[in-house]
Amino acid sequence: MNLMVFGAPGVGKGTQAKFLIEKYGIPQISTGDILREAIKKNSKMGLEAKKYMDEGKLVPDSTIIGIIKERLSEDDCKKGFILDGFPRTIPQAEALEELMNEMGIKLDKVISLSVPDSMIVERISGRRVCKECGASFHVKFNPAKVDGVCDYCDGELIIRKDDNPQTVKSRLEAYHAQTAPLFEFYKNKGVLVEIDGTKDVKSVTQEIFEAIEKA
Ligand code: AMP
Repeated sequence: MNLMVFGAPGVGKGTQAKFLIEKYGIPQISTGDILREAIKKNSKMGLEAKKYMDEGKLVPDSTIIGIIKERLSEDDCKKGFILDGFPRTIPQAEALEELMNEMGIKLDKVISLSVPDSMIVERISGRRVCKECGASFHVKFNPAKVDGVCDYCDGELIIRKDDNPQTVKSRLEAYHAQTAPLFEFYKNKGVLVEIDGTKDVKSVTQEIFEAIEKA
């Protein structure tokens, strides 16, 4: 099964993707996580991308498409995958379509999570992420079992550098200007499922599972 979680920053894409991994045994492909990993390793691509990420801007399409081409060709993607944070622009979506056509596969479902911007700011301000595996938690809405420790890998939980109010504002602007048009793009293809992302984490997970099973 090939899935995508779609929505603004902070709607819960990464959190829900983790539950989908557990249920369906397919890998999560987060371009944000891949870029953060490249920054950690001080690679040329990582250092280039960092300039955009620190300002809350999108990394150029050519870099992102290169990352995805490489990642989707890995063996673990043969049984399916969950795209998280990709595509974020129409050219990225078109490149993905071309790539999937070449691979003889298709996107089965695009799970769109909607949350108003005012709520997103609160969600992001309480977000904590694992330094090791990138899993997301929230101090109030989705706390880790042990404070400051990742439920999945025992890694340390930190505040992401771009989760500050100024950068979040830029990230939301980038979302509305460049990413939101993908909603219509996937709706027209008949693969979009709309889920109310304002509900509690467990209810959202339940609705996503039901939408996938119904398909
Ligand atoms: P995320 O972890 O998905 O919130 O992504 C963090 C940052 O990485 C974004 O604000 C962008 O600067 C960059 N990024 C991640 N995925 C993409 C993408 N598909 N296209 C462009 N930039 C991206």
